[in-house]
Order: sequence, then structure tokens, then C-alpha cells
Amino acid sequence: MAPDSRLYRPDSFALWRESQDMKVRTRLGGIFYLLAWLLGWGFSTGSAPLLGPGGTLFFSLMLLLRWLHQPPAQEDTPGLQRWIDRHWLLLYLTSLGWGLAHAYTLWQPSFEPSRMIATLSTIAFSTAMAFNFPMRKQRCMAAILLLYLPGLVVLALHWAAQEALLVTLAVYLSYLMLALNRSHHEYQATLRLEQQLLEQREQYDRLSRTDSLTQLGNRLQFNALFPAMVASARRQGSPLALVLLDIDFFKRINDQHGHATGDACLSAFAERMRQVFRRDSDVLLRLGGEEFAVLMPGTPLAQAHELAERFRRELAEQGCELGGQTLPLTTSLGVGCLEPQHDTNAETFFKRVDDALYRAKGAGRDRLVLALDIV
Ligand code: GH3
Ligand code: MG
Ligand code: MG
Repeated sequence: MAPDSRLYRPDSFALWRESQDMKVRTRLGGIFYLLAWLLGWGFSTGSAPLLGPGGTLFFSLMLLLRWLHQPPAQEDTPGLQRWIDRHWLLLYLTSLGWGLAHAYTLWQPSFEPSRMIATLSTIAFSTAMAFNFPMRKQRCMAAILLLYLPGLVVLALHWAAQEALLVTLAVYLSYLMLALNRSHHEYQATLRLEQQLLEQREQYDRLSRTDSLTQLGNRLQFNALFPAMVASARRQGSPLALVLLDIDFFKRINDQHGHATGDACLSAFAERMRQVFRRDSDVLLRLGGEEFAVLMPGTPLAQAHELAERFRRELAEQGCELGGQTLPLTTSLGVGCLEPQHDTNAETFFKRVDDALYRAKGAGRDRLVLALDIV
């Protein structure tokens, strides 16, 4: 699954990535253990009435469990960690099962014709382990040892006859440890790179939705959030208030004091908004120029009215303080609350509040008009 289909959460991302990689990489492996066992059993000369079907059953069961064991849908850290631990348990069981099967093949004379198959399979499985599961070095090392050691013990017991094979396998094991070390570092480096990319993308996304002058959300943010909040308020039957603000005669500020002072005024205005509309759920936005908005989920009209009126009054009383001087500044406001019966969509709701704002302008500015009339 591509990481962009989910919200990037740094705390659980590494575990999520690990579980996805494990899921994909264990899918096919189980088939080869079963196949190797069937080949080894098939080429043996003894009848092995219990062991043959027993091994087949065991490796079939492991294969089935690998397929059935799916990562949790919820991406919480403990849940992912638990899934990874259990999946490693399955890998350990399969590895131990194969290690014992290999040892038995080396031990039992009737399996003599299958020894080459079993030893080659052990090499193949441990190599696959080192390259496919380097996410956890120690665990991978343990799984490789479970694959390898039982066979090495049997070879050591037959030292005189098997010394060449024993030494070769031991040398290859040391190579595998080095290869595992390298693939572990490569895996970690790729993971870090992926995390950096996602962090950068998130940062870019945040910046593209933030107004650089005031650090409030911008029009893009509004366009993304507003319809979603309207839909959610309708669904949950909870109130959603919208406050629209347009600074009065702002052009004059620019004309009389210069554009830089105008900019500073806009920043101070945004700061004032932050001090009045302080709920975590309030979304403060600069829609463009000297037009601002506050989205207040879960807030009834009376409460939004009270806060917005306080904002207007305090601004009119205190103006805009800039570098020691105070510029008089007022704003007009339209305030409304979503009426699910009448506001069929986000646009009609916005228009209702925007109309109220323009009535406030028309009525002389520095005032608040409630969007009460349903159009
Ligand atoms: P009204 O009371 O009718 O809203 O009058 P107004 O002057 O505020 O409205 P108008 O739409 O005529 O002018 C808005 C002004 O806001 C014009 C523009 O120069 C100024 N403005 C828009 N964006 C910025 C900005 O980013 N920085 C500065 N300094 N001024 C801006
Ligand atoms: Mg305007
Ligand atoms: Mg204006």
C-alpha cells in the first residue's frame, strides 16, 4: 500500500511500514518450505508413514497462518507491534521446523537422496531471510540460526564424513551475517529517507494552506475545510458558526501609512483574532486581502455572536497598535449558524453570512449583522 493513502503519523509510521513489508514478503515464502519438504520426502527411499504427512501438515499450516495473519486495520502503535511480534513467531516456527527437517534428512539414511535438496533449501531459505527480513537484525539472525543450527549439529556429530559440508555451511553462515548487517542498514536508510520525504510533503502541504503574512489558514485551507465541516455538522446535527470579517476602509491605511504598515496591521488583526477566538476547534483564516473568517464547530449562534461582537468592540476601542502609535481600525462582520433545513450546501450558508457582512458595510461599517433571515 502506498503511504500517501494514509495520514502520515511519525510515531507509528516505521511500524506500519514494517508490518506492510512483512506481510508482502511472507506471502510467498511459505510455499517454498512446503515444496522443499514435499521434494525431500518424495525423493527419500523410506516410507516415513508419520513424518511425511506430519511435515506436510506442519508446513501447510504455517503457510495458511502466514496468509491468514493480516495486519490490524487500526494503525495504533501497540496493535502494530503485537502483530509484528506474532508474525515473527510464525517465522521462527517455520524456521525451526525447517531446521529440524534438514537435520533429520542429514541424520536418517533413508533420506540420503534428499540431502542435497534439503541443504540447498536451507541455504536458499536463510539467504532469503537475510535479504527479506532485515528490519530487525537480532530477530532475523535468530531465525537464520534456527534454520541452520540443527543441521550443523548433525554434521558436527558426523564430523569425519561431513567436514567439507560443515565448513562450507559455516563459512556461508558468516557471509550471511555480514549480508544481513548490510541489508539491515540499507533498510533503515530507506525508511529514514521515506520518513523525510513524507515529513517534507506534509510541511509543504501545511505551508501551501497557510497565509504567510498572518500564519492563519488561507483560502485553499478554507475551500478544503468548509464543505467538510458543513457536511460533518449536518451529519452530527451539531451547530456550526461562521464569522466573516472585512476590515473597514483598509485602502486608506495603505494610502496614508504605506503598504508595510498595512501589512503590519493585518498581522496585528490576525493576532487579535487568535486572542479572542481561542477554542482549539476554532479555525481562523485569512480569505484574502483584508477579509478574514472564523469557523466555529459546535458553537451556537448566540455564543459566536457574543465573541464576534467582543472582537468588534475591542478593535474599535483599542485600534491597531504599531510601533508605539495607535491607528484607528474597525471591522464589519457577518455572523451566522448553519441551518441544516435551509442551507442545502456550504455555498448557500456562506452566501447567507456574506450577505449579512455586506449589509453591515452598507449600514455604515464597524458593526455586526446576524445572518438570521433564511434566503
Ligand atoms: P471597505 O470598508 O469597503 O471594505 O473598504 P476597504 O478599503 O477595506 O476595501 P477595498 O476592497 O476597497 O480595499 C481593500 C484594500 O486592502 C485594497 C488593498 O490595497 C488592501 N490589501 C489587500 N491585501 C493586502 C495586503 O496583503 N497587504 C496590504 N498592505 N494591503 C492589502
Ligand atoms: Mg474587502
Ligand atoms: Mg475592507
